[in-house]
Amino acid sequence: MSRFARQLPEARGLGMTSQRARDRLIERLVAEGIRDRRVLDVLRQLPRHLFIDEALATRAYEDTALPIGQGQTISQPYVVARMTEVLIEQALPRRVLEVGTGSGYQCAVLASLVEQVYTVERIDELLRNARRRFRKLGLGNIRSRHDDGRLGWPDEAPFDAIMVTAAGAELEEALLAQLAPDGVLVAPVGPPGRQELLRVRAGADGWQRETLAPVSFVPLLGGVA
Ligand code: SAH
Repeated sequence: MSRFARQLPEARGLGMTSQRARDRLIERLVAEGIRDRRVLDVLRQLPRHLFIDEALATRAYEDTALPIGQGQTISQPYVVARMTEVLIEQALPRRVLEVGTGSGYQCAVLASLVEQVYTVERIDELLRNARRRFRKLGLGNIRSRHDDGRLGWPDEAPFDAIMVTAAGAELEEALLAQLAPDGVLVAPVGPPGRQELLRVRAGADGWQRETLAPVSFVPLLGGVA
């Protein structure tokens, strides 16, 4: 039984939200090319059904994005797995910044793998719900903040890795500036319909930029709500 299921009976799930449903999702992710055992193990354990509205819980282990209110979505499990894999491929980061807390699911995945996660969300109501979930699941290594995440979290910079989970028109300079030497940033960039997942590495002789795959994310917006 996973650590979450031991702590919290509702994390165990039933029928469409059971361990069997999570296991089937993992099989599918493996078939789709996810290879990192650390990532697969976390997704196998983490109760995604507790990060969405109860009315949608039976769909929690479909490999699809789902609405979380305020016009926002919880990312598709494949995308969460792939972005996490890409972020930790070279080295396991110690301190990670996430921009776009949303449901808190991606953040909980990261918190299960690294020492400390910092997450920023611009919509207060979503952030409140995510914080409640972190508490319930006993995830004590997450600090969260209601702000425009395009500015990063300057007081806590630099970060070993930064993950952006909403698509901006361009890479945010402020975020690149908060990467530690050898740090990695993963972000979707581009207009709706033409977004690409980018990985940027902060090397001794400048930024190294790789285009990984076409993706579809909600937009990175300015200000707070
Ligand atoms: N990582 C989330 C994905 C949620 S969708 C999850 O696992 O559920 C992206 C989120 O980014 C939305 O909640 C949206 O409100 C938020 N967002 C968009 N622009 C932002 C900004 N400038 N700063 C912080 N959060 C932002």
